[in-house]
Amino acid sequence: MPLKHIDTYIFDLDNTLYHPSTGIMDAMGIKMNQFISELHGISVEEAAVIRRNYWLTYGTTLHGLMEHDNIDPVSYLDYIHDIDLAVIKECAATRSGIEKLQGKKVIFTNANKEYAEKVLERLGIADMFDGLYDTSWAGYVPKPATAPYEKLIKELGADPKKCLMLEDTATNLKTAHDMGMTTVLIHEYEHNHEHVHHQEPCIITWLDKVTKDK
Ligand SMILES: [Mg+2]
Repeated sequence: MPLKHIDTYIFDLDNTLYHPSTGIMDAMGIKMNQFISELHGISVEEAAVIRRNYWLTYGTTLHGLMEHDNIDPVSYLDYIHDIDLAVIKECAATRSGIEKLQGKKVIFTNANKEYAEKVLERLGIADMFDGLYDTSWAGYVPKPATAPYEKLIKELGADPKKCLMLEDTATNLKTAHDMGMTTVLIHEYEHNHEHVHHQEPCIITWLDKVTKDK
């Protein structure tokens, strides 16, 4: 894929920069269910149903909890991100691929900064980005809402037509696409989204393809 016109790379974090097979998001899902279960005094199974509805309606469980349950986002994020990250290993291929990309590189995540920094450190790529834009920076308004994307573009002084966004959640690429960005879906199984320009099963295969001559 041609990248000559791209001057800004916007990376999602979870399940994009590391593979879903690490089970990190599953571990986080368990913590979310526990949080809702304790909050409402219900079973974790009942909590899982609420979590799914919040996620589908609001983009993140957090946003649903803030709308319906008035919870403190900081303590919630601390609680769900308190998981073992040892399964995330240093990845030389990711590092050398990102290094070869010409332009500004930033992280744009619905997670919080402290957790994101830990993940990036474990991957061995924490020093490679020009910015880390987390959910607290976005005022806890999550992707795919338009507001955080617009805030990001403004903050970077970027032209959306020169931005490329990488994500494992197809919905989050719809907003990017509609703003004029190039979109790359990092996912093995999802298919046929009109707003997805390119798709690769994992970040390493995408980096290999676009940087092989560099
Ligand atoms: Mg993700």
